[in-house]
Amino acid sequence: MLSLHDVSVAYDAVPAVVDATLTLADGDVLAVLGPSGSGKSTLLRAVAGLEPTTAGRICWDGADLAGVPTHKRGFALMFQDGQLFAHLTVAGNVGYALRLRRTPKARERVRELLALVGLEGYGDRLPGTLSGGERQRVALARSLAVSPRLLLLDEPLSALDAGLRERLAADLRDILRAAGTTALMVTHDHDEAFAVADLLAVMRSGRIVQQGDIAEVWRAPVDAETALFLGYARVLDGAAAGTLLAAAGLAAAPAVAVRRSALAVAEGGPLGGVVVSGRATPEQIRLVVDVDGIGEVDAVARLGTHPAPGERVALAVDPSRLAATPAGRERSGG
Ligand code: ADP
Ligand code: MG
Repeated sequence: MLSLHDVSVAYDAVPAVVDATLTLADGDVLAVLGPSGSGKSTLLRAVAGLEPTTAGRICWDGADLAGVPTHKRGFALMFQDGQLFAHLTVAGNVGYALRLRRTPKARERVRELLALVGLEGYGDRLPGTLSGGERQRVALARSLAVSPRLLLLDEPLSALDAGLRERLAADLRDILRAAGTTALMVTHDHDEAFAVADLLAVMRSGRIVQQGDIAEVWRAPVDAETALFLGYARVLDGAAAGTLLAAAGLAAAPAVAVRRSALAVAEGGPLGGVVVSGRATPEQIRLVVDVDGIGEVDAVARLGTHPAPGERVALAVDPSRLAATPAGRERSGG
């Protein structure tokens, strides 16, 4: 079990991570999600022992890791750009640490690992002949080779293009589960975090502002900025929040985060508004509607309907796509 207790890291007295507290049980996959510069890589490097902490404790099974050098922590690191050895074959890369340790049956283990990451038969290829996605799979297999007690992943998929990133994220999830790996991943991409992890910590300006089960964090973002960073389309407060929550049959809250498609054109609904613009996708018609008492909000209509700009429509609210957030508090706090 990994635990961080009020860990801070600073560069030349400028704080990069402040009071980070986290727990990762064996087998957990936790994503730290935050914008660029929020301190994610610094946190990961501190866990790896590559960055000295200025305060707090980083422990494994309760034992303080201070003074334990990186190579004795039993952790593996994987970066955005894989960092394969260009002159070694795929099998050579994956088996590198096994050979250093003179692990018996290394060749068999390499074959197993290549199967795990979906690269059977790639053993003799050189990294230069692989696609970006294949290279990251090799990097992952290499990280898993020595069965690290913790895998640290720094934006492992960020260098890949969108479609590939999505597929590899799903594979990464399956591979980590299949190997039973405990993993701490940092990323700026909420889709990636949701696709790979079960637990989420949201980081901002060096601080972890919310953490928990990924579905719980998604359901109840701690503040407006977190909601928007998690991929909510809008945050409404004041009277607008009250109007929407009342229409959804929910209790009042200072603010409400609104996911895309929270509103749908209905036969008769509790809300009405005027279509501002529309765009057809293969599944639905996406609209921007100026809703009475709320302002412009995304909404959807079924294909085959043709709500035109300027037309008045009734709207139904999907309560599962709304989340109350204490956004008022956040704004006054800056
Ligand atoms: P993230 O990974 O979330 O993008 P980082 O952990 O890389 O963020 O950086 C956090 C903050 O620390 C940033 O303000 C960054 O400029 C600063 N920082 C990172 N690495 C160094 C370094 N080696 N020296 C000085 N400042 C650094
Ligand atoms: Mg980083």
